[in-house]
Amino acid sequence: MKLALLSDIHSNLEALDAVLEALPEVDRILVLGDIVGYGPDPLGVIDRLQSVKARAVRGNHDQAMLDPGMLELFNPQAAAAARWTLDVMTPQSLRYLNSLPFYGRIGRHRLVHGSPRKPYIWEYILDELQALEILVRLGARYCFFGHTHLPRIFTESGEQIPEGTDWIEVPSAALVNPGSVGQPRDGNPDAAFAVVDLSRPAVRFERVPYDIATTQAKIRAAGLPEVEAARLALGR
Ligand code: ZN
Repeated sequence: MKLALLSDIHSNLEALDAVLEALPEVDRILVLGDIVGYGPDPLGVIDRLQSVKARAVRGNHDQAMLDPGMLELFNPQAAAAARWTLDVMTPQSLRYLNSLPFYGRIGRHRLVHGSPRKPYIWEYILDELQALEILVRLGARYCFFGHTHLPRIFTESGEQIPEGTDWIEVPSAALVNPGSVGQPRDGNPDAAFAVVDLSRPAVRFERVPYDIATTQAKIRAAGLPEVEAARLALGR
């Protein structure tokens, strides 16, 4: 079984479409949350995910649409973008976000936006010791996660920062983050995604360029914070 991992799309339709076009044939498209927020096309992105029958979990930016009290925890630009997004949401799009689980499963594997560690679902998995604590409790399965916008594999032997597009063999327990489709933060502005082949098992990380100028123009035309446009070109 082959799975596509997409995370942190953040209302960036140009990036999502570039990724969908570049995707090899897979059995399922998994979306690891933060479908909306920051970007200019929340409704278009939700539409597209529904049309490709993606299976998604809820991110903190998605949850903020349903629980605007969370915006107090956001930085001012993220909060401003979230308020803009809330204004353009429709009852159907809110219903879609509300239908998404916080924790998802695919076979014995897990999908989550931030962390499988209850109640720290919005924690950022960033370091090896933290990942090891999670792996020990996870057992022999994979947990696919996002939230940090950084492509990573964590196993009991440590952290791996993927380079290139070769298949990377993974042991039976691993935390895998495909990076961000719509707002990469690892210094590479190209949209990030990953493909998992459970039969090997192995993961391949990929990057695909997209029309950043169009997304930036839409962000500016919408009156969203300028930083959300500028950062796309930097991949930060
Ligand atoms: Zn995010």
